[in-house]
Amino acid sequence: MSRQRTGRHTGSRAASDSDQALAQRAAAIARRLQWMYPDARLELNFSTPLELLVALILAAQCTDERVNGVTRLLFRKYRDARSYAEADPAELERDIHPTGFYKRKARTLISCCRRLLEVHGGKVPDDLEALVQLPGVGRKTANLIRVCAFGHPAIAVDTHVKRVSRRLGLTASEDPDRIEEELAEFVPRCHWRHFTLALTLHGRRVCVARRPRCEACGLRDLCPWPERGTESMGSE
Ligand code: SF4
Repeated sequence: MSRQRTGRHTGSRAASDSDQALAQRAAAIARRLQWMYPDARLELNFSTPLELLVALILAAQCTDERVNGVTRLLFRKYRDARSYAEADPAELERDIHPTGFYKRKARTLISCCRRLLEVHGGKVPDDLEALVQLPGVGRKTANLIRVCAFGHPAIAVDTHVKRVSRRLGLTASEDPDRIEEELAEFVPRCHWRHFTLALTLHGRRVCVARRPRCEACGLRDLCPWPERGTESMGSE
């Protein structure tokens, strides 16, 4: 028997959602996202797990477009973990300068790749616990690497996933780890990978931070956000 959501489960999440109703709505949202963004992918360019790891470190407080502009040459110059680990810091700083915070990012890249060499034979691991031990890699980055470089089912909670899933009433939490846990509970596992990528795109293009474009949103009938308009919320 499904229970009504109480305590930490209420808040922005629709108060009347039982676990069962929430699971149905989460599945409907995941299916709708599949239809809305069939080719959802990361907007960072990469062709190996190491390239993705480097791009994600550079993407902190920088646009994907600018990172792609830098990595186009960077990936030709630094071809493996050793080339970053043994890089001259000043030269690496110059090479990544346009991404901002270049001193800190250069230090992170060097120490991260040193650990890859020391512990993982220069390869990026696909295991969450091992990934989060790498300097500069938090849970979000680790999950994105697992999803995008290795094809593992995982949910990565960035600022867009957090905002949109809260508006969609799939979580009431502010804590990314808790949000990941709640989304994993209700979004069918087979959708995790696409859900992460599509929700990020949706947050960038439609459910933007300041004035979400609810009138143009394909999830509107599934969304309890009070300012979305008047269409009823269903589970498809
Ligand atoms: S209806 Fe509005 S608030 Fe809800 S997901 Fe769409 S854009 Fe975001």
